[in-house]
Amino acid sequence: MEEEKKKILCVGLVCLDIINVVDKYPEEDTDSRLAHRLMLTQIAGVCPSAGSEEETLQTRARCCRCSVHRAPSWARCLLDLWPTSVVISNISTGSRTIMHMNRNLPDVTAQDFSKVDLRQFKWIHLEGRNAEEQVKMIQQVVMYNSTLPQHQKITVSVEIEKTREPLYQLFPHGDVVFVSKDVARHFGFLTAETALKGLYSRVKQGAVLVCAWAEKGADALGPDGLVIHSDAFPPKNLVDTLGAGDTFNAAVIYTLSNGGSLQDALTFGCRVAGRKCGFHGYDRIGEKFADD
Ligand code: ADP
Repeated sequence: MEEEKKKILCVGLVCLDIINVVDKYPEEDTDSRLAHRLMLTQIAGVCPSAGSEEETLQTRARCCRCSVHRAPSWARCLLDLWPTSVVISNISTGSRTIMHMNRNLPDVTAQDFSKVDLRQFKWIHLEGRNAEEQVKMIQQVVMYNSTLPQHQKITVSVEIEKTREPLYQLFPHGDVVFVSKDVARHFGFLTAETALKGLYSRVKQGAVLVCAWAEKGADALGPDGLVIHSDAFPPKNLVDTLGAGDTFNAAVIYTLSNGGSLQDALTFGCRVAGRKCGFHGYDRIGEKFADD
């Protein structure tokens, strides 16, 4: 396949978010009126089957178009099956409080992954979950890459977002490693820059380590030892930070996979993620804005 037509593969979890928008965080033991918004935030991974094979296929197809909020009956069926997060999104502060349910779907295994035709992809991103299996998946990519010239090799990125010990084994396996501020804090670092310097010894030679830090923007450190920074781009009104991190990761991967510099990738990541914080969900992410 021609290099420019190759795609990006994401390995992770498909999760249905039910977002309850409130203008004030509810007090415990009171009842509140909530505005529901159903939105699908992360794509790629294991899908449960929904009734007949036909229904399952339809579900998956709709899922890819992110049109959950316009299909209430389908959404009900999803609720019974899919990993779901109930979110309280406070529009006064932009904070989001998340409760997870239906968490018993199996993760993608290395055996599942071995069925993927790697020739289609130029980049594979793994959301750190079942790390031991994911290391084996990355080893499959490394084997595949070893048969190819440099410009045809697949780049591997991993995200280490949760503070779970087994996930830390992923550090030395990504060409690009996204580490969250939660993990950075867990290791005792109070800024993105100190986290990058402190954790860089864990990544493999030549890798890039990236750390986003909400309203402080994001930093990255590559093999040249220079820390690169982008400020955040806060929206006029902070409405919803849910998914800002995923948006940031996607925009960084998009830029780097199209040959952009690390500085361009960080700046674009913060621009798109900052914009996302200005509205609910993702529907308006592609709109032209006054500051474009
Ligand atoms: P998450 O908590 O969703 O994982 P992060 O805190 O890691 O997200 O933020 C990712 C990126 O989103 C940041 O680098 C920044 O560019 C943008 N961002 C997040 N929160 C804000 C905010 N309050 N104001 C402006 N930009 C933000």
